[in-house]
Amino acid sequence: MKFADIIGHKNTIHSLRELVDNDHIPHAILIGGQEGIGKMRLARAFTNYLYCLDRKDGDSCGKCPACLQNAHHNNPDVHFIFPRIGAKQKNTEMFLPQWNEFIDRYSYMPKEEWARAIEAGNTVPVIYRNDANEITRTAPLSSFAYRYKTYIIWMPEKMQPECANALLKLLEEPYPDTLFILVSNEPGQLLPTIFSRTQRFNLQPLTEEEVSHILTSEGIPYPEAQEIASLAEGNIIKAHDMTGEGGEMKEFSGYFIQMMRLCYARTASGLRMLSDAIASLGREKTARYLNYCARMIRESFIFNLKVPQLNALTHQEAEFSVRFSPFINHKNVEKLMAETQRAHDDILRNGNGRLVMFDYMLKVMIQLRK
Ligand SMILES: [Zn+2]
Repeated sequence: MKFADIIGHKNTIHSLRELVDNDHIPHAILIGGQEGIGKMRLARAFTNYLYCLDRKDGDSCGKCPACLQNAHHNNPDVHFIFPRIGAKQKNTEMFLPQWNEFIDRYSYMPKEEWARAIEAGNTVPVIYRNDANEITRTAPLSSFAYRYKTYIIWMPEKMQPECANALLKLLEEPYPDTLFILVSNEPGQLLPTIFSRTQRFNLQPLTEEEVSHILTSEGIPYPEAQEIASLAEGNIIKAHDMTGEGGEMKEFSGYFIQMMRLCYARTASGLRMLSDAIASLGREKTARYLNYCARMIRESFIFNLKVPQLNALTHQEAEFSVRFSPFINHKNVEKLMAETQRAHDDILRNGNGRLVMFDYMLKVMIQLRK
């Protein structure tokens, strides 16, 4: 992981780089901000830069022994502390294989995936007192291979109180060349006394362009990436939830196809069941579904123009549009769009979700015959 691999957060990268360049490393750094924006990626890129033996153009080289050790998770002076299960286990060591695989595969750190990786079940992973003991034991020792010893603590807000107090002691009387990097989704939940002893970087959510850029670089086609980015609230974890198998887009596409078939067949009882099902997704998600409907109606209308460059459809959607688009025409498209917008606004204005959706579907049904 290099700074060059980080999308967004340009100012923070600049500040972190300067800390190293000016040889002005604080005892503790807090990288805070909502989940899914790449805070751990940034912490890792910074650590690599700090240890790199051959820094070039403001970035780590990726080739020197330090860079290779960091990439292979065997730098003896870099330690990760993370929420886990198994209070009786002495330290986090037994979870290291899962951890190393997790941060390589899920660099945006979805905590549900982590819970799955360690088979947490219904147990909420936390950082135990034992983990702090391990830090307290190793922090006074000299580093093995490099000048700095680094502890990267993921989700420090999950520290048990005894653990937080032990960390506080270490921050109050720091050892030289020992660095703590706290990577926190909820910095506000940290002990104020810990919070105040850190140099803080508050990261903003990613922009729509940045999310879309990341998704397309992962091989998601542009129209879909763009659409997901507009719904993801700057959160890559959320975006990934919408893309994968059974993701939100696929789910919406299924509902939309079903809705249009039922409208076409004029099956009111089916529409009632479907509107109940969609309303049960909750207000926010129902509103997102209606945004999806608006897009599909608009795209289907454009589809009729037979100018593919104008269309922004996924493969699956395009297949459906071949059959569906003839039902959207200049006589009904405006009315359909207006009804969709109205239903969307009603949902967000606390309207009864089931009634709003059923009413909406009946309106669509009437319009489809025009
Ligand atoms: Zn290097």
